[in-house]
Amino acid sequence: MLSTKQRIAVDMDGVLADVYAQFLRMHEEDTGQKLSREQVKGLLEEEAFPLHDEHVNRPGFFRTAPVMQEAPKVLELLNTHFEVFIVSAAMEYPNSLKEKHDWLNAFFPFITWQQMVLCGSKSIIRADIMIDDHFKNLDNFQGRTLLFTQPHNQTSPTKNHQRVDNWENIAELLL
Ligand SMILES: [Mg+2]
Repeated sequence: MLSTKQRIAVDMDGVLADVYAQFLRMHEEDTGQKLSREQVKGLLEEEAFPLHDEHVNRPGFFRTAPVMQEAPKVLELLNTHFEVFIVSAAMEYPNSLKEKHDWLNAFFPFITWQQMVLCGSKSIIRADIMIDDHFKNLDNFQGRTLLFTQPHNQTSPTKNHQRVDNWENIAELLL
């Protein structure tokens, strides 16, 4: 049966998963330097963290990332009102695939495997709404776009995307 629900594509890193918490923790462990989110504002993750590539390829980086506050509760509600797909460019770091799958099962047990789209380029994605923290994904998307605030996009004009700062914001807008 064809679903009449609107379809939402939800990003993982920087939207469901707090990857900045991981970068800041590993950066401090490896360099002894404690950075704050404020200090890395406006910088891409690879600019802000010199050990970026090493850290994202380190076993456990994705599996042990903290979940964004309120994300499980709000996504579970969205899941009853919308057709939800988790869309993550996992092929950028192939080792992340299994970790992301396990992470989703741990924090979002109501998300089925059919709803997990661990992919390469997101330009192939068609949905009604996309929630993402990167312009490169939102700019190419035909539909409503929500820009999830993260330090790297915090100082950028939102262009024609709608900015959301947290999952409570998303609930207010979509539920
Ligand atoms: Mg992201």
